[in-house]
Amino acid sequence: MGELIELPLLPLRGVIVFPHLVLHLDVGRERSVRALEEAMMQNNVILLVAQKEARVDDPAPEDLFEVGTIARIKQMLKLPGGTMRILVEGIKRARLEKVTEQEPYFKALAAEVEEEEADQAETEALMRYVLQQFEHYIKLSKKIPADVLANVSSITLPGRLADVIASHLSLKVEQKQEVLAAFSPVTRLEVLADLLNREMEILELEKKIGLRVRKQMEKTQKEYYLREQVKAIHKELGEADERLAEANEYREKIAAAKLPEEVEKKALKEVERLEKMPPAAAEAAVIRTYLDWLLELPWVFQTEDRLELDVVEQVLDEDHYGLEKVKERIVEYLAVRRLTQKIKGPILCLIGPPGVGKTSLARSIARALQRKFVRISLGGVRDEAEIRGHRRTYVGALPGRIIQGIRQAKSRNPVFLLDEVDKMSTDFRGDPSAALLEVLDPEQNNSFSDHYIEIPFDLSQVMFITTANNRYNIPQPLLDRMEAIYLPGYTEEEKVKIAQRHLIPKQLEENGLTGKNLRISEGTLRYIVREYTREAGVRNLERELAVLCRKTARQVVENNDYHLTVTRSNLHKYLGPPRFRFGLAEKGNEVGVVTGVAWTETGGDLLAIEVTLMKGKGKLILTGKLGDVMQESAQAALSYVRSRAADFGIPADFHEEYDLHIHIPEGAIPKDGPSAGVAMATAMISALTRTPVNHFVAMTGEITLRGRILPVGGIKEKILAAHRAGIKTVILPQDNKKDLLEIPKNVRRRLEFVLVEHLDQVLPRALLSEEKYETEASRAMSVSQG
Ligand code: ADP
Repeated sequence: MGELIELPLLPLRGVIVFPHLVLHLDVGRERSVRALEEAMMQNNVILLVAQKEARVDDPAPEDLFEVGTIARIKQMLKLPGGTMRILVEGIKRARLEKVTEQEPYFKALAAEVEEEEADQAETEALMRYVLQQFEHYIKLSKKIPADVLANVSSITLPGRLADVIASHLSLKVEQKQEVLAAFSPVTRLEVLADLLNREMEILELEKKIGLRVRKQMEKTQKEYYLREQVKAIHKELGEADERLAEANEYREKIAAAKLPEEVEKKALKEVERLEKMPPAAAEAAVIRTYLDWLLELPWVFQTEDRLELDVVEQVLDEDHYGLEKVKERIVEYLAVRRLTQKIKGPILCLIGPPGVGKTSLARSIARALQRKFVRISLGGVRDEAEIRGHRRTYVGALPGRIIQGIRQAKSRNPVFLLDEVDKMSTDFRGDPSAALLEVLDPEQNNSFSDHYIEIPFDLSQVMFITTANNRYNIPQPLLDRMEAIYLPGYTEEEKVKIAQRHLIPKQLEENGLTGKNLRISEGTLRYIVREYTREAGVRNLERELAVLCRKTARQVVENNDYHLTVTRSNLHKYLGPPRFRFGLAEKGNEVGVVTGVAWTETGGDLLAIEVTLMKGKGKLILTGKLGDVMQESAQAALSYVRSRAADFGIPADFHEEYDLHIHIPEGAIPKDGPSAGVAMATAMISALTRTPVNHFVAMTGEITLRGRILPVGGIKEKILAAHRAGIKTVILPQDNKKDLLEIPKNVRRRLEFVLVEHLDQVLPRALLSEEKYETEASRAMSVSQG
């Protein structure tokens, strides 16, 4: 044993410093820092001894191992918080003989241990063995860098070799201490070999466990993965089954539908596309809808026509009262078609106010021919796509109304009613009338292409019938293709008959009643027509009758024997108070008020034209929503009156003193056209001359600046309206004489017609006292001025 020296002692926690090894240590404990400071003053040498228990903060001498290392402090660094970082190099082993001081730091007597010589042969073998083991260990642990082995192999001193290897192993402090405490190199190597073996066993075991764990993990992962795949496969298989089933179902349907070749090909192609798609895809839904359309369109099915003219006549007569001319025209039209054996030819267009039987005529034609009937309304259609459909690329695309109608008809040759062709409009989305033209054109419509359907559809077997309220609003190219049939409206007489023969029986049946339950006398019917409706057709009349039937039906439900006889005196109980006052004629003669007759889309109507004079500067004020043509016509009338003022006994300068206000009541309804010219001129003269107008007289006609009267349209409707209103005399242009032939006889008999060419012929009939022109006029002036 070597020399005893007294050195400051630094207790180590969890580390062993071997001789010849350099190590960083962090020192924080007060006593240890003091010891370091002391060492710095004595050649930087210090005794390092490990604590038996690292946990102990304040070790006593017994807590320290007996063997330590004398070391040199090579560097010292103060860290924040009072800790010191030192770099120490172990010099040699030393035995701790005695702790000489404990405060303020450990001081101890240490006996230096000199390295012993060893037997060459024995150590050589041990060294090799240890090296081998170490190499093996490095491979297993993978924690030690590869170049360590090279360094270690170059060590020739057995003791040193053991120390270096021991320092690299992750051993417990006691185990390292064992190596440190082995003074003889041979013993040291043996101890190390033993430790290495143990370590290796542990490593092997770790490896095994690692492998096993990994295997376990891999297995569960693999299972999970496989299970997921199986699920996916199942799903795929299930869907595929579903898809296949759906596709096959379509294929069967397509085969059963006996589609034309082109359609079938297209349909099958779509089915193929469908089959490749996940069933829930949005695109799949689009294809399904499309296929359904293809399948449901009557590509080939058509009904057999019954083209017997006497049957047609009979059916039309059965369904409709009157309308003789119209029925005749329809039968002729069908006769021509039958003779020519062609569908080609003009399209029927039924023109007239609402409720005159246009739709029901078309329905009757279908019934007579034993064809299916469909009706679409074109009112408000402003988009070409509504006729021709949207391309399938649009979201929610559908075929146009034509194809929709055909699908509804379920046959390719229905009677197809296109309602309200005059109510289409054109805007930036394209002109629907152009598309309609293609539909109606016999040269083109055998391959009508709907944007949605894509495959051309043959419309050539369809019998198109159109309806309109107003001829002038039908686009000209369409009108050119059509054969117009006019239905002007019904007389009171006709309405009563239609009600008795058709409307009442129909309504009774619809409400489950019989003639016993409800009786309406002819007089009552006439009263309903007059006081509850004002129309050219019979739509409102039918509605009122329906109300009566419903009210009766309610009573019948409660009491089977209930029966109601509607009379004039109890009518208001069921229909409420009368809605219209019959006959303007009751009103009385007035100055400046003339009854005009106008043509409107709902039939003819009376028009009260009022003129008043006011102090002013000759302005012409027009109110009552008058259109441009009507305003100009008022100007013309005024100019004429001024130019003839003297003849009528009106002061020539009246226009410098008075404003003329022309008003046409029911101001909310727009009015236009030149046909009120005569009436306005007459009203002005009446006002200016203070001459009353005969209120039983109604008039129509356009006026020129020279007072000539020109013919106007809608005579029949106007006369029917005048008749409805109880007018006695109708003044109309001479050139409209021919139109009188179309007026039903019973109406003609009850009205007086005065045909005129010039305003001068009007005034004597309209104004009440012709000879009073002059006196009346001057009196009027003075009265107004006064
Ligand atoms: P529109 O199509 O001209 O507007 P509808 O054809 O719808 O008119 O006719 C309205 C109702 O009046 C229908 O119930 C119809 O049967 C009936 N109707 C119209 N005119 C006659 C007539 N001449 N004979 C029998 N019923 C008629």
